[in-house]
Amino acid sequence: MSSILPNVLSSSSSNMSVADEIPKSNEVYVTKRGAKLNLEEIGPKPTKKVALICCMDARIDAFSAFGLKEGESHIIRNGGGRASDSIRSLVISQQQLGTDEIIIMHHTDCGFFTFSESEFRSTLKSNGLPGPDVDAMSFMPMSSDDIDDNVKADVEYLKNHPLIKKESKVSGWVHELKDGSVRRVV
Ligand SMILES: [Zn+2]
Repeated sequence: MSSILPNVLSSSSSNMSVADEIPKSNEVYVTKRGAKLNLEEIGPKPTKKVALICCMDARIDAFSAFGLKEGESHIIRNGGGRASDSIRSLVISQQQLGTDEIIIMHHTDCGFFTFSESEFRSTLKSNGLPGPDVDAMSFMPMSSDDIDDNVKADVEYLKNHPLIKKESKVSGWVHELKDGSVRRVV
């Protein structure tokens, strides 16, 4: 008991979460933004009528890297930036919020290249997660080791998806983390 208590005390005093830091950071943001940007006036429909799908990778600054600003584009992020994981949001983006262009943006050094679905499922089960639930979910690691192939597969997936507008402009890209550049694949 006596050995546990000091640990609890020290962790609670130094255990600031990111959530605790938000109010202070937000004050700076509010001051900088001021009234020059009236986002309510712009409305929820992206002014560039585009939805960009990219990975949740913490190193990607999707607005700056791809030349976008608030109000201009939907940015749908998920692990790997996979098309199949974005369908629900894309249908709302297109049917409710007027977008008609989709940009698939994969990136180099993506964590999704580092595991296979079967390996990951085994890891989850050995971590004690329930097997039936683990097996029921697709975690969608990259289907190919070739980044361009994955981009092409996602573009094809969207072009053939029954819930995606047939007339959508769909392009596929690779974002190089090393230097920040982008390269169009398809
Ligand atoms: Zn990634």
